Amino acid sequence: MHNVLIIGSGCAGLTAAIYAGRANLRPLVIDGHEPGGQLSLTTHVENFPGFPDGILGPELVENMRKQAQKFGAEFKAGAVTEVDLHKRPFKITAGKHTYETEALIVAAGASARLLGLKGERELIGRGVSTCATCDGYFFRGKPIAVVGGGDSGMEEANFLSRYASKVYLIHRRKEFRASKIMIDRARKNEKIEFVTPFVVEEILAPQGVVEGVRLRSAESKETRELGLDGVFVAIGHEPNTTVFKGRLEMDSNGYLLAKHGSLTSIPGVFVAGDVQDHRYRQAVTAAGSGCMAAIDAEKFLEEHKH
Ligand code: NAP
Repeated sequence: MHNVLIIGSGCAGLTAAIYAGRANLRPLVIDGHEPGGQLSLTTHVENFPGFPDGILGPELVENMRKQAQKFGAEFKAGAVTEVDLHKRPFKITAGKHTYETEALIVAAGASARLLGLKGERELIGRGVSTCATCDGYFFRGKPIAVVGGGDSGMEEANFLSRYASKVYLIHRRKEFRASKIMIDRARKNEKIEFVTPFVVEEILAPQGVVEGVRLRSAESKETRELGLDGVFVAIGHEPNTTVFKGRLEMDSNGYLLAKHGSLTSIPGVFVAGDVQDHRYRQAVTAAGSGCMAAIDAEKFLEEHKH
């Protein structure tokens, strides 16, 4: 029987583990599919407060993990396959193991969608990025592309035009999913060139870093190559909430709904990080919400002592 079980080991889960550990709750953390979360897929992180020279994403999460272990957090590898939240103690199953816990913090995160191209994942940190706020600064004075025709694509293209010498906005259709105001803003921006309807066929990186993209027209099938240093993939995120369908309240995109900070409709179940946040999605906001969930869980346990 555990006091607190935390699902997810990204920034939110690890911060919750540090706080719950320091409250003597000996939390159990189930790592999930992607131990370390999205930070483990980035290179330099320059906007996490406290690191004036920046820090590597994997190093930052490793530090948080060690910090949590120092305060008594225990870690188990594996992904959660089933949850029973009908009554306390909650039952959480990860593969062959089922754990019982008085309080649950769901910090399962969200995963950025990728295009599914050969070598794309390996090129993250070598020119491919899924986060303009995180990586835009590294492309000062360089040509880059943003892929995606939603609000994220428009927003990232505008944001990146502050740094990049040129931004190609590549989208597979001529119509956009983005709102009119966001499209108009991007169209007015002289640094942004719309390239539609084009599909990215290959990311060109003969030396292991991005040098360009080969595109294919969705209409004429003509191909075209663009020389550039960065490809920002902005085709949406997928919250990791499949196992919570029908068990926790979520919005139409599958993000868990939090109220009053980290609370859910089930007393004793708390949410933190990108699994409930499609707006900010930053390491520091995820860490902040992990802290809130741990404090809420601690209060809950105090009030519901056996
Ligand atoms: P989104 O609205 O789902 O748009 C995803 C875009 O990526 C679409 O244009 C889609 O093309 C394209 N796409 C998807 N899979 C693709 C693939 N495999 N290859 C190429 N293109 C692909 O996602 P989002 O832009 O991240 O926005 C998510 C939500 O957050 C939306 O509700 C949005 O309004 C909101 N948001 C709001 C703001 C804001 O208001 N400031 C900023 C960002 C996000 P198709 O259109 O052809 O399907």
